[in-house]
Amino acid sequence: MGKILGIVNQKGGVGKTTTAINLASCLALNGLKILLVDCDPQANATSGIGFPRDDERHSIYDVLTGDATAKEVLLPTQVENLTLLPGSKNLTGANIELANAEDRALRLHKVLEPLQGEYDLIVLDCPPALDLLTLNSLSAADSLIVPMQAEYFALEGISELVSTLERVRASFNPRLTIEGVLLTMYDDRTNLAQQVTETLREFFKERLFKTVIPRNIRLAEAPSHGKPVALYDPRSRGTEAYFELAAEYMERNNIPNPKAEARKAAA
Ligand code: ADP
Ligand code: MG
Repeated sequence: MGKILGIVNQKGGVGKTTTAINLASCLALNGLKILLVDCDPQANATSGIGFPRDDERHSIYDVLTGDATAKEVLLPTQVENLTLLPGSKNLTGANIELANAEDRALRLHKVLEPLQGEYDLIVLDCPPALDLLTLNSLSAADSLIVPMQAEYFALEGISELVSTLERVRASFNPRLTIEGVLLTMYDDRTNLAQQVTETLREFFKERLFKTVIPRNIRLAEAPSHGKPVALYDPRSRGTEAYFELAAEYMERNNIPNPKAEARKAAA
């Protein structure tokens, strides 16, 4: 049964979508069967993996509102083993349209449950808000990765996120845990980054991933080519970092990773 991993932080621009696309792709390239679900109305994960904006295409919106089944909406991607459940602009409307439904926070859970048997992992890219879409992701997820930038205000908003998690645990989803906190867009030349990292390590302890994602121009360029960084520039630092994160994730979860060994041997 594939677990469900949410990539959340209500702040925008912290690297959620970059992490969702590239962690999902690296895990898929390591041989796991992955489903990437784009829960953000901005649909950046959808375009970033190669599907230009198309308002006619069915999306997770139609599945959440009951107008399509997930299977009708799934798209195979250019990455072997990686399937996409695309997002779309009209997802904004779901926040309002589902507001009065009794199961409004559990729609995504119900949609994904029957798919879990077919994937090793389902990765959710969440919007930059603690809205109904994020609430649906938190109710569906087994665990979360929280991407953060090493900046002075990094911890601002975290107490709000943590209290939301506690409420979701109490009312919908007792399984929910934090898999890890991930430092993104890291620039180790600055003292500030190092200080903030120390603070975050004291706060999150072993839950802070050892892997740090550096600021890397290839990571920023790849989405405009509709590719994960591993296909756009396999030799970049960004590719290396997300393969390292995939390996750390697999190790923590006791998933064998023979492809990483082979890749190391070939390098
Ligand atoms: P979020 O989904 O949290 O809003 P994104 O993943 O979209 O954040 O990242 C915000 C912006 O920063 C995007 O333009 C993205 O390409 C860029 N970006 C993300 N991670 C990196 C990185 N490690 N190095 C350079 N640019 C990055
Ligand atoms: Mg995003």
